[in-house]
Amino acid sequence: MRTITLEEHISTPEFLNATDKLWDGDPSVNFWKASGAKLLDTGKDRIADMDAAGIDMQVLSLSGIGMDRLDSATAGALARDTNEKLAAAVQAHPKRFAAFATLALHEPEKAAREFERCIRQLGFKGALVNGTIDGLFLDDPRFTPLFETAQALNVPIYLHPAPPTEEVRKAYFSGLPANLGFVLSTAAWGWHVETGLHCLRLIASGLFDRLPKLQIIVGHMGEALPFYMDRADMFLAQSTKHLQRPISGYFRENFHITTSGVFSLPPFLCAMQVVGADRILFSVDYPFCDNSLGRAFLDTLPISPEDMAKITHKNAERLLKL
Ligand code: MN
Repeated sequence: MRTITLEEHISTPEFLNATDKLWDGDPSVNFWKASGAKLLDTGKDRIADMDAAGIDMQVLSLSGIGMDRLDSATAGALARDTNEKLAAAVQAHPKRFAAFATLALHEPEKAAREFERCIRQLGFKGALVNGTIDGLFLDDPRFTPLFETAQALNVPIYLHPAPPTEEVRKAYFSGLPANLGFVLSTAAWGWHVETGLHCLRLIASGLFDRLPKLQIIVGHMGEALPFYMDRADMFLAQSTKHLQRPISGYFRENFHITTSGVFSLPPFLCAMQVVGADRILFSVDYPFCDNSLGRAFLDTLPISPEDMAKITHKNAERLLKL
């Protein structure tokens, strides 16, 4: 059975150099440096790892955390350079790789033009963006060109987590020993619930009433949203009378979720009950998670062959036009 994964990361020496100084302190929490060699490889070693786990295609994206902390000119140049390298990786192995665009969102109009170039000229399948920009969530009206471009080109935007802003880090994650605060603010908890919050803000802003065909992808089994959707519906109903649909209506129709980095049955079953097999896509989060672990999880899922086909490849083929 064909298997396509969507949250699979690369980096470039230029991007790692530019963002390395952002991660001073304990090197054990520099996930990017720890995975450096695998992030930089888009050739035979990556493909051998995919083959060993029975993964046919990866949709590649920059692990772009730190892009928002660079100045606009540096970020713009790095995004364009990364997109050229992503295009070269796909061109070298077009049956094994596809790509999501890297965007420098400090200047949303410019980013939207680069987004369009990536889709029309480089054949990319969407864009992947990382968390807040200049401390702003993407429901801020300045980012409208990003979403208008996605809808106009009929491609999704993958909303990926990023470390919280300095204010949030201080208020919520300081006063803890060693690197505990950093890990708690990122992969252990913080950036997942922040991404879930980000999705709720996008919905509550009316974005999907203005752009009803827009599709957002979120990883990590839905960034806690399937678990809390009922609660969001219940308590936001009174405050979101300006919306055409309940919160969960948008979540079920304008979002897809992936299994990236969450290889555990209880959250998967919750996601199946809340959004269903048409909107769940298998992903790994390579190289931060192992392809083989993702595959082992996939192989144990108690679902029908039809649902398995949707989750492993049919949903991806439809959403990304692969
Ligand atoms: Mn990731």
